[in-house]
Amino acid sequence: MAHIDKYFRLARQIALHGDTKEATRQYRLGAVGVRTDGAIVTASNVPQRTPEPNAHAEARLAKKLDWGSVVYVVRIYSNGKLAIARPCKKCQIALRLRGVTRVYYSISETEYGVLCL
Ligand SMILES: [Zn+2]
Repeated sequence: MAHIDKYFRLARQIALHGDTKEATRQYRLGAVGVRTDGAIVTASNVPQRTPEPNAHAEARLAKKLDWGSVVYVVRIYSNGKLAIARPCKKCQIALRLRGVTRVYYSISETEYGVLCL
Protein backbone atom coordinates (compact mmCIF):
# COMPACT_ATOMS: atom_id res chain seq x y z
CA MET A 1 0.00 0.00 0.00
CA ALA A 2 1.28 3.43 -0.95
CA HIS A 3 1.12 5.02 2.50
CA ILE A 4 3.17 2.17 3.97
CA ASP A 5 5.89 2.53 1.32
CA LYS A 6 5.95 6.27 1.86
CA TYR A 7 6.25 6.20 5.64
CA PHE A 8 8.56 3.18 5.72
CA ARG A 9 10.86 5.13 3.40
CA LEU A 10 10.80 8.05 5.81
CA ALA A 11 11.29 5.76 8.83
CA ARG A 12 14.30 4.21 7.11
CA GLN A 13 15.83 7.68 6.63
CA ILE A 14 15.16 8.49 10.27
CA ALA A 15 16.79 5.22 11.34
CA LEU A 16 19.88 5.95 9.26
CA HIS A 17 20.18 9.70 9.74
CA GLY A 18 17.94 10.33 12.70
CA ASP A 19 18.33 12.27 15.89
CA THR A 20 20.98 9.94 17.33
CA LYS A 21 24.46 9.38 15.94
CA GLU A 22 26.39 6.18 16.50
CA ALA A 23 28.59 4.64 13.84
CA THR A 24 28.92 1.10 15.09
CA ARG A 25 25.40 -0.14 15.62
CA GLN A 26 24.29 -3.49 14.19
CA TYR A 27 20.81 -2.21 13.59
CA ARG A 28 18.79 0.98 13.83
CA LEU A 29 15.13 1.67 14.34
CA GLY A 30 13.15 4.50 12.89
CA ALA A 31 9.61 5.39 13.88
CA VAL A 32 7.21 7.77 12.17
CA GLY A 33 3.94 9.02 13.59
CA VAL A 34 1.19 10.53 11.48
CA ARG A 35 -0.88 12.66 13.82
CA THR A 36 -4.54 13.46 13.41
CA ASP A 37 -3.61 17.15 13.04
CA GLY A 38 -1.57 16.17 9.97
CA ALA A 39 1.85 16.64 11.56
CA ILE A 40 4.52 14.02 10.89
CA VAL A 41 6.73 13.26 13.90
CA THR A 42 9.76 10.98 14.04
CA ALA A 43 12.13 9.27 16.45
CA SER A 44 14.99 6.81 16.30
CA ASN A 45 16.32 4.50 18.96
CA VAL A 46 19.13 5.45 21.32
CA PRO A 47 22.13 3.13 21.65
CA GLN A 48 22.31 1.64 25.13
CA ARG A 49 24.83 -0.56 26.92
CA THR A 50 22.06 -2.11 28.95
CA PRO A 51 18.47 -2.77 27.88
CA GLU A 52 16.34 0.29 28.43
CA PRO A 53 12.80 0.30 27.03
CA ASN A 54 12.60 4.10 27.15
CA ALA A 55 15.40 4.16 24.57
CA HIS A 56 13.21 2.42 22.02
CA ALA A 57 12.20 4.54 19.04
CA GLU A 58 8.49 3.89 19.59
CA ALA A 59 8.67 4.92 23.26
CA ARG A 60 10.47 8.12 22.27
CA LEU A 61 7.94 8.72 19.51
CA ALA A 62 4.97 8.19 21.84
CA LYS A 63 5.61 11.51 23.61
CA LYS A 64 5.14 13.38 20.33
CA LEU A 65 1.86 11.75 19.24
CA ASP A 66 -1.70 12.94 19.54
CA TRP A 67 -4.72 10.73 20.18
CA GLY A 68 -5.40 8.50 17.19
CA SER A 69 -1.99 8.82 15.54
CA VAL A 70 -0.87 6.04 13.21
CA VAL A 71 2.66 4.70 13.69
CA TYR A 72 5.16 3.15 11.26
CA VAL A 73 8.32 1.44 12.54
CA VAL A 74 11.23 -0.08 10.67
CA ARG A 75 14.37 -1.89 11.77
CA ILE A 76 17.31 -1.67 9.43
CA TYR A 77 20.44 -3.77 9.73
CA SER A 78 23.92 -2.56 8.88
CA ASN A 79 23.62 -4.46 5.58
CA GLY A 80 20.85 -2.02 4.65
CA LYS A 81 18.04 -4.59 4.79
CA LEU A 82 14.79 -4.23 6.67
CA ALA A 83 14.08 -6.69 9.47
CA ILE A 84 11.35 -7.29 12.00
CA ALA A 85 10.41 -4.23 14.02
CA ARG A 86 7.36 -5.43 15.94
CA PRO A 87 7.12 -3.12 18.97
CA CYS A 88 7.86 -4.71 22.35
CA LYS A 89 5.15 -4.96 25.01
CA LYS A 90 6.29 -1.82 26.86
CA CYS A 91 6.25 0.23 23.68
CA GLN A 92 2.84 -1.18 22.77
CA ILE A 93 1.52 0.03 26.12
CA ALA A 94 3.18 3.44 25.74
CA LEU A 95 1.61 3.85 22.30
CA ARG A 96 -1.79 2.63 23.46
CA LEU A 97 -1.75 5.19 26.27
CA ARG A 98 -1.32 7.87 23.59
CA GLY A 99 -4.38 6.65 21.74
CA VAL A 100 -2.55 4.73 19.02
CA THR A 101 -4.56 1.79 17.73
CA ARG A 102 -2.59 0.84 14.64
CA VAL A 103 1.13 0.24 14.08
CA TYR A 104 2.69 -0.86 10.80
CA TYR A 105 6.10 -2.51 11.22
CA SER A 106 8.68 -3.98 8.89
CA ILE A 107 9.19 -7.75 8.79
CA SER A 108 11.58 -7.95 5.84
CA GLU A 109 12.33 -6.00 2.66
CA THR A 110 9.08 -7.24 1.16
CA GLU A 111 6.81 -7.93 4.15
CA TYR A 112 5.20 -5.81 6.84
CA GLY A 113 2.98 -6.48 9.78
CA VAL A 114 0.06 -4.59 11.30
CA LEU A 115 -0.45 -4.43 15.03
CA CYS A 116 -3.89 -3.43 16.29
CA LEU A 117 -3.61 -2.16 19.86
ZN1 LIG B 1 10.06 -1.25 22.71
